[in-house]
Amino acid sequence: MAEKLDKTEQEWREELAPDRFHVLREQGTEPPFTGAYTYSKADGTYRCGACGNELFSSDAKFDSGTGWPSFTEPAVADAVELHEDTSHGMVRTEVTCARCGSHLGHVFPDGPGPTGQRYCINSLSLDLDER
Ligand SMILES: [Zn+2]
Repeated sequence: MAEKLDKTEQEWREELAPDRFHVLREQGTEPPFTGAYTYSKADGTYRCGACGNELFSSDAKFDSGTGWPSFTEPAVADAVELHEDTSHGMVRTEVTCARCGSHLGHVFPDGPGPTGQRYCINSLSLDLDER
């Protein structure tokens, strides 16, 4: 397990573009169907947009029709952390990067088999390393 990255919000603000800072560090959500990776079928590894941690493989990506990149599982189980999120009057499970704590998206139990999980992730939270 990679060592935790501990940066101040000020450091992140200087490092990240404003739209990425909003999603990654302020739990923002990009508008649906706008993200760079929503429809991407390119092969590769999706890394954390803040720290480069390896998060998802394109092999686990599927077209959920929701407007956000969707995955059935993380590339490595401990690459992400899950937290209960009760904001916006809903109970959801937030997904964060295990290395730097940045917000990635949410996971829902309505994905396709075999995991039945749908990791609904903001494109702005990801960087694709094409194979
Ligand atoms: Zn990260």
